[in-house]
Amino acid sequence: MNKLVTLSVKCPHCDHTLMDEEHLIHERPSIRINIVTKKDRGILWLCSVYGCYDHNSNLEIENGELVEFFCPHCNKSLLRDIECKICGAPMVGMNIKAGGKVNVCSRKGCENHYVVFEDLAGAINKFYHELGTSG
Ligand SMILES: [Zn+2]
Ligand SMILES: [Zn+2]
Repeated sequence: MNKLVTLSVKCPHCDHTLMDEEHLIHERPSIRINIVTKKDRGILWLCSVYGCYDHNSNLEIENGELVEFFCPHCNKSLLRDIECKICGAPMVGMNIKAGGKVNVCSRKGCENHYVVFEDLAGAINKFYHELGTSG
């Protein structure tokens, strides 16, 4: 049971995939999101492995800074009406293709993120199934 779970996510508004096959983190497609900071706008790539906090950006983000997240396809905000239980920042919400949602804290440096599954066992099985058939 050492297989890592890769989350494949899509926009909750337009249903477009947020996966970037050309920008790999840990040899897997990353999650690409448009971001706006106090000073600038840019792109953030999140690792798609559940439980991994690695990410890249073409912007310098100060630790503790709040970042706004937008879908690169429909440009709608991905911030949800949910507060981070650790730091109080708004949470970012994305839909998981296999079902369920993933919520990520919008504050740089806060590692709060969690997955909300409607059916945990079924969703995990789907992940393994997809991993198994994709290569
Ligand atoms: Zn969208
Ligand atoms: Zn937080």
